[in-house]
Amino acid sequence: MQQPQIVETIAALRSLDQGNRTIGLVPTMGALHAGHGALIDKARSENDRVVVSIFVNPKQFDRPDDYAAYAIDLPADRDFCAQHHADIIFAPAASEIYPPGHATYVEVLHLTDHLCGKFRPGHFRGVATVVLKLLNIVAPHRAYFGEKDAQQLAVISRMTQDLNLPVEIVSVPTVREPDGLALSSRNRRLTPQERKAAPALYQALQAAAKQADPAAMRKTAQEILAQNPQIRVEYLEVVDAATMTPIDEITHPARIAAAIWLGNTRLIDNLAI
Ligand code: AMP
Repeated sequence: MQQPQIVETIAALRSLDQGNRTIGLVPTMGALHAGHGALIDKARSENDRVVVSIFVNPKQFDRPDDYAAYAIDLPADRDFCAQHHADIIFAPAASEIYPPGHATYVEVLHLTDHLCGKFRPGHFRGVATVVLKLLNIVAPHRAYFGEKDAQQLAVISRMTQDLNLPVEIVSVPTVREPDGLALSSRNRRLTPQERKAAPALYQALQAAAKQADPAAMRKTAQEILAQNPQIRVEYLEVVDAATMTPIDEITHPARIAAAIWLGNTRLIDNLAI
């Protein structure tokens, strides 16, 4: 199997001869799993070249312990990318992306007021900034993002539209374990007991989505999550899918979204309504 080329500098990436090929970019923070695999497969099916970026972006972490615990294994990720037929891995050092003097950030307003934006100060500013930089560096025709991070997807789509970026943002449905738990790099931090409790998040969202109105949806989900004392709910909201703002009535496409803590691990998930 052909190993993808690992490129570590912006200059080296820009010097690659892409010819007239279409390029698909899959931005990741490494520790790749089947959720990332679905993004790479979709990119592979739609582009001549697939670039996977692996960069643990320090600017999007609101907690130093979370950043410190975010371990990546480049040889394992390279094998994973080879299995999914990616062509190039862009894996820059933090100093390559944020050299001394870096002072420019992207803020996407309103969409970031609730859900993760409310509980992780600066998170989406870091995400939007690094994604804009990656889009400028790689210059892809298409970039791929998971619905698992629905607010992130909304933020990136808004930024792309607002800043007239010449890229198509493609969304990919959430990949789950057989018991419903959404795949996440953070799942590996769960203790066996926490792992047993974790599928309650998806079960709660599914049961909620069958209810008629947002109040009943929140109540149903809260009741299911409250059955397990290990689970601490950070937020549980029904939001307008376009604005990511909490709603009391469903008149437009909506999403139910939640973040929970199991011990020191934070998990998020969401479903379309
Ligand atoms: P991350 O490495 O966690 O920053 O995620 C990189 C990309 O993979 C983001 O666009 C995520 O939304 C996406 N992703 C992460 N987990 C999943 C999943 N379980 N299913 C689909 N996409 C995912």
